[in-house]
Amino acid sequence: MAPAQSNGDAEHHVKIPKIKFTKLFINGDFVDSVSGRTFETVDPSNGEVIARVAEGDKEDVDSAVKAAREAFDHGPWPRLSGAERQKIMLKLADLIEENVDEIAALDALEGGKLFTEGKYVDVPSAVRDFRYYAGTADKIHGTTLKMSRGLQGYTLLEPIGVVGHIIPWNFPAQMFSLKVAPALAAGCTMVVKPAEQTNLSALFYAHLSKLAGVPDGVLNIVTGFGRTAGAAISSHMDIDKVSFTGSTEVGRLIMQAAAASNLKPVSLELGGKSPFIVFDDVDVDQIAGLALAASTFNKGEICVAGSRVFVQEGIYDKFVEKVVEKAKAKVVGDPFDPNVQQGPQVSKTHYERVLSYIEHGKREGATLLAGGKPLDRKGYFIEPTIFADVTDDMIIAKEEIFGPVMCILKFKSVEEVIERANSSKYGLAAGIMTNNLNIANTVSRSVKSGVIWINCYFAFDSDAPFGGYKMSGFDREMGMESLSKYLQVKTIATPVYNSPWL
Ligand code: ADP
Repeated sequence: MAPAQSNGDAEHHVKIPKIKFTKLFINGDFVDSVSGRTFETVDPSNGEVIARVAEGDKEDVDSAVKAAREAFDHGPWPRLSGAERQKIMLKLADLIEENVDEIAALDALEGGKLFTEGKYVDVPSAVRDFRYYAGTADKIHGTTLKMSRGLQGYTLLEPIGVVGHIIPWNFPAQMFSLKVAPALAAGCTMVVKPAEQTNLSALFYAHLSKLAGVPDGVLNIVTGFGRTAGAAISSHMDIDKVSFTGSTEVGRLIMQAAAASNLKPVSLELGGKSPFIVFDDVDVDQIAGLALAASTFNKGEICVAGSRVFVQEGIYDKFVEKVVEKAKAKVVGDPFDPNVQQGPQVSKTHYERVLSYIEHGKREGATLLAGGKPLDRKGYFIEPTIFADVTDDMIIAKEEIFGPVMCILKFKSVEEVIERANSSKYGLAAGIMTNNLNIANTVSRSVKSGVIWINCYFAFDSDAPFGGYKMSGFDREMGMESLSKYLQVKTIATPVYNSPWL
């Protein structure tokens, strides 16, 4: 049985927005790149060009950094009270909420993401992030220190300065808020580089930020390629901090560039190969559905994908049967069609990469039970793919595929699955499915990853810190932890009246 396909010619149920912003946003204005060059942004559901976007390069990053530096050193933003920054951020959150359809549509158009998920999940999360961090802006304070030797002191939390945010293409609207909102709350100024595949929602946000009253120079957007504009950010001598989400390989390059320039601190949120562990006491039908979502949500283009599905031997056959049935019923097609459950992969290059992993899986001897092929239509669509009988040594069990591919592995005991779950170089997330409290507690404390979801998956929240262990990166996004990435601690000491210092 082939996976369900939507009619490729289905009329769009949503009005595709007119593309209004395609230029760089520097110092409060939309401007051409210094070189005048532009590049194509492409609709992955048909391979057609949506628009040409300004191609920023080193000179453009320089002028964006100059604007951000001026805004930081002399502008109002870091000097406003937290309450005043909060007010502007809340206004921005309201404007994002009012424009939810347009932002979701831009991400669907460029990223092949489901419009309904953008509208009901991604953009509302972005709104919540802006409101959450707006709420922190007037609560940033240090501590008082009762020091020895006749001194007293206190700490001041100061914004770290000019921040470079380098953003990936899989959740453009949400990654923007995750990085920009805490940095704004802290009083930083910034240069954002969206991924070259997905530029338009970031430029639209820039427009909204101006309407909300974010002062010129505080938020600058440079669209362009990673090896030029991105590299200019990570190596810039006047950027004080870089926050990056993307591949582990590029994360390494960013750290190297930071080390070779001004030793700016970096935060990295990188790849994953997260275990989704199913013990044999669960409701198989329900957890099979959750496992499929964990592997294939957002067409598998999500760093926390639960792509190594460990299933205990007692329910293995039944689980495999259920998951295959559900995968075959998944509707793949036009991301604007509300009946569709999976859109196209983000780009031709990425689509080919995912297909090559599927070929690896077949060659390595995993049992292909569903999918495994592109759809026979224009665009970069891949069938939801299930491999069973996967073993730990296979490439498909070790490397991040970032596509709609589930690998199912069989296990016997708790000790064994902990050891195998931890055998990855990554440590981003893990799912533990069991009704046995003892097992849930033991496994959650033993698995080396930054987030553990018990009997749920993708349980994100603005207040819940998120980030990786091992080669999945370091530092946390969301929660108060993320705010602290954009602050630095200054200690101020002074002698008191009877001090030997006086
Ligand atoms: P992917 O491989 O999934 O496309 P990347 O890690 O390459 O993910 O991209 C994530 C972000 O990093 C994008 O904004 C991209 O332009 C940027 N990027 C890519 N290469 C570099 C680089 N050498 N220096 C800085 N940023 C880069």
